[in-house]
Order: sequence, then structure tokens, then C-alpha cells
Amino acid sequence: MTELEEAYRRAAAFLRENDGFLLLTHVHPDGDALGSVLGMASILQKMGKRVVIAHEEEMPERFAYLPGIDRVVRVSELTGRFAVGISLDCADRRRLGRAAEALMPEARLLNIDHHATNDRFGAENLVDSGASATCQIVCRLAGLLEIPLRGDTAVCLYTGLFTDTGGFRYGNTTADVLRLAAEMIDGGLDPYPIALQAVETVTEKQLRLLSAALAGLRTAAEGRAAYITVTRNLLEETGTTVEDTQELVNYARNLAGVEVGLMFREEGENEVKVSLRSKHRVDVSGIAAQFGGGGHPRAAGCTVEGPLRQVIDRVMGVVAARIGRG
Ligand code: 5GP
Ligand code: MN
Repeated sequence: MTELEEAYRRAAAFLRENDGFLLLTHVHPDGDALGSVLGMASILQKMGKRVVIAHEEEMPERFAYLPGIDRVVRVSELTGRFAVGISLDCADRRRLGRAAEALMPEARLLNIDHHATNDRFGAENLVDSGASATCQIVCRLAGLLEIPLRGDTAVCLYTGLFTDTGGFRYGNTTADVLRLAAEMIDGGLDPYPIALQAVETVTEKQLRLLSAALAGLRTAAEGRAAYITVTRNLLEETGTTVEDTQELVNYARNLAGVEVGLMFREEGENEVKVSLRSKHRVDVSGIAAQFGGGGHPRAAGCTVEGPLRQVIDRVMGVVAARIGRG
């Protein structure tokens, strides 16, 4: 048995042998974060286990269709603390945010993730960086536990496969991902409403934000990098929130000739969230890691201290040097 197969086997045993789980995922959750957490909750319920899902923030409107999302509780409303936890799609403990406070200090934590930069912060770690989505890891666990990929479980897990591969378009779109999706559709899942709600639908406010953000798009490194800037003023003027900015970075990346696309979002006087995406060859997780963040080779992020203009100059300096090295 390989080390990874052993990690899958141990994770399945952890799920069978424990009960009273607290499920957690990263702050600003995306489709894979929520899909994996709710898919796992659905599997555990089918096994007759008790499950609570806690988060620091309110749930994003876009994912309101996910079965069980109404059961996610705000961590501030929880009274008790949990002895058994599962973290999904989260590369380090800090990104769990305040929800991690609902774990007892001595809690046993199972860390299930697909980020290569995962620092293995759990007591048990199932880190499969070959997986395109954390939902794909959860699908494999469902197989080991003999839980079928049907009904609510399938809606949640399909969502993560779909969103983390950019709708089955990115370089991480593998035959295994498509086979799992096909298996779910064979089992009765309807893919179109999921695509419509998870990625296709935009609000008018989001379009106004996109329009203003595109007007400020800049290129660098002789057209091989491009970035979009979102100031706090812009969010205020368009009545949008951080949640509404998630797709913007793709417009910078998708520009013809660009290898690295970025978004700089002002978080406070002295703090900037940076999202990085690349097309073919630049490992942006390495660039993000230089600034205290992480992620995947083609999608990564970090939060950098300093005023907006200064952070842009510093990060773009590193990006240009990296592109220049070929
Ligand atoms: P996004 O740019 O959409 O926030 O994140 C892209 C990818 O980078 C995701 O896989 C996300 O988990 C990771 N990521 C974003 N920000 C951070 C960060 O501050 N630290 C780490 N370790 N990963 C991040
Ligand atoms: Mn993911």
C-alpha cells in the first residue's frame, strides 16, 4: 500500500470510529469548500453519525442551493466545544478563521485537503495534491465507506468538482473527475441548475463592479502579466462585497498573451488581498508563499501588509522577475 492509500484508509477508519464531528472549512468559502463540507456531512449522516458544521461568516448567496447549507451555524452561536473535528479544503489552521475556536484544544482533527502547500496541521492528514478538488477526495472516501454518490451527497460533491476545475475547463480536468461527474449524472443528478447557480448567474451589482474593475485593468511584463485593482471605495460605490470579487482575477488571466493574472483587493488601510492565476508554466503558489500565502501552481493567494500602491509594486516586481526567468 502506498503512503497515500494508507492515508485514505486511515481517514475512512477515522470517520467510522468517531462520532459527534465538527466540520470546518476555510474563510471566504468557494464551491469546493462548501461542497466538500456539506458532502462530507451528508455522508456522515448516512452512516448515522452526528455532525455540526460551523463557520465564521454568513454563507454566500450563490451557494444557497446546496442541500444542508441552512444547517451551517455561525461559530459565535455555538456554546459547546468539540472533541472531534474535520477540516476540508483548508491549507493551514489560520485559514479556518474563528470557527476553529469551537474545537477543544486537545481535539482530534482530520485534515482533508488537495493543496500541495498544506502544512499537515491535523492529527490525521489526508492531503492528496493530485486531486483536482477536495470534493474528489471525499468521493473516494465515499467509495471506501460504500456510500453511493447520489441525491444530496452528489449535488454537494459535483459542485466542488465543477467549480474547482472552472466548469471542467482548467488543466486539472482529469478523466477521473469526468468519470465521477458522469457517475453522478447517471445516478440522477441534473448538472444544469448547478452550473447556472454556482457560476453562470451574476447580479447587476456584480456586473457594475466588473465594468469598473475592467476599466482599471493594467498590463505589465510586456503584456505577459495583467492585474485588476479593487479599492474599498469601489466596493462601496457599487454596493458589492468581497464575495462579489472572486471571479475578477480570471479576466486578467484570460487576456491573450498573459501568463500571470492578478487581483489586488484593498482590505484595510494597510492590508491587501492578492489573488494570482497562471496559464501554463509559472507556479504562482511559490510567489504567494514568498508573501506568506499559498495555494496551487495555477491558483494561489496571499494577504500582504502595506498600502495598495506599494503592495502592487512589490508583488508585480516578483511576478515580472519570475516571468523573465522563463
Ligand atoms: P483566491 O485567490 O481565490 O482567494 O485563492 C486561490 C487559491 O489560493 C485557493 O486554492 C486558496 O485556497 C489559496 N489561497 C488564497 N489565499 C491564501 C492564503 O492567504 N494562504 C494560503 N495558504 N492559501 C491561500
Ligand atoms: Mn479546493
